[in-house]
Amino acid sequence: MIDLVLKQGRDRSAKRRHPWVLSGAVAEVRGDATPGAAVRVLSHNGEPLGHGHYSPESSIRVRLLTFGKQVPAEDWLADRIARAVAERQGDPLLANTDAMRLVNSEGDGLPGLIADRYDDIVVVKLTSAGMHLRRDVIAQALREASGASVGFERADPASARREGIASHEGLLWGDALPATVTIREATCHFEVDVAHGQKTGFYLDQRDSRALAARLAPGCDVLDLFSYTGGFATACARAGASSVMLVDSSADALELAKAHVSANASHCRFDFQRADAFNWVRETSDPSDSSASSDSAFDLVIVDPPPLARRKGDVNKAARAYKDLLIHAFRRTRPGGWVMCFACSHHVGPDLFRKIAFGASIDAGRPVQVLRELGAPSDHPVSLDHPEGHYLSGLLLRVMA
Ligand code: SAH
Repeated sequence: MIDLVLKQGRDRSAKRRHPWVLSGAVAEVRGDATPGAAVRVLSHNGEPLGHGHYSPESSIRVRLLTFGKQVPAEDWLADRIARAVAERQGDPLLANTDAMRLVNSEGDGLPGLIADRYDDIVVVKLTSAGMHLRRDVIAQALREASGASVGFERADPASARREGIASHEGLLWGDALPATVTIREATCHFEVDVAHGQKTGFYLDQRDSRALAARLAPGCDVLDLFSYTGGFATACARAGASSVMLVDSSADALELAKAHVSANASHCRFDFQRADAFNWVRETSDPSDSSASSDSAFDLVIVDPPPLARRKGDVNKAARAYKDLLIHAFRRTRPGGWVMCFACSHHVGPDLFRKIAFGASIDAGRPVQVLRELGAPSDHPVSLDHPEGHYLSGLLLRVMA
């Protein structure tokens, strides 16, 4: 058994079941701990706090899997994976789709493991040295629990760098990966490129908000900023939007978006702009039009940018960028229309995001109501022990007449 002893006074976090042991809390490692090794964590005076996986290069030195004295059984990992997959399969909130996150890392008590299901394919990301080392067990467990015919591991270069391990990509089981896989979400179908698309191919975390947008959309002119492959725009078009306008900087994403809108809602008028959305909203806004009643205005505006604050130090800059986007979004929204906006960074939480929206409403000269808080759906559980797992904050707003 390899033991890792914490510094005095640094045992509180593990005692409260937080899964991360940070490098600064470690006093001593007893034994030859290689990357990914199973270790026991002890308090300064030798009290067992938990068992986890060792990451010698990372500032998260151990990811705890069990707490207290309990030693993980031989089949602990496979068991935990099977439990998470069974929870998804039995979740009534996921009944209208065949694409969902099966394992959400810390949120499922499996730090370092992400697995997304796209119909008959499971896409896996291993983001810790511990999970890398256990690739075969993980593949076997996911294959059995999901019954999917193909398993594919996507490389995650950022975490590989952080962990000091070689990043890896390839088939985990099955014969071959198709170029795209068709998934169903509510009444829409989407083509997902799991090998090259962003994240593991699709923004599964916006499923509930796409459904909400679809409920608002009938008869609306919709602007989908940062559209990716058109998830929001397609859901809105299918639900009876009058028109959808999509803006994204990725040509590949827009190619798929075009196919999605036409295949799911051939009747709907649509337009696409490959552009930097920050510039696009600024340049296409008409400053003389403060009532937003012109043709350049929309009834529903969706603002879903990429993470703008990956680190805590980026928060102020990110807040300014979000505010700027929202000022333009509010100005482009017809009186009584809706704005759905998102921040997908743990460092910009719901309270700060509300404050940013408030500042934008003042600067835009448009009073705004909050109708709902939005967030990730039930296949992205966040453990109360691990608040860092909360990363998606969103608001449904009404720009008042
Ligand atoms: N709403 C989408 C997900 C959006 S993800 C969905 O439901 O599927 C963020 C998107 O922003 C990505 O598609 C990325 O290509 C795009 N993006 C990143 N920077 C951008 C920029 N400066 N201007 C426009 N699009 C950008």
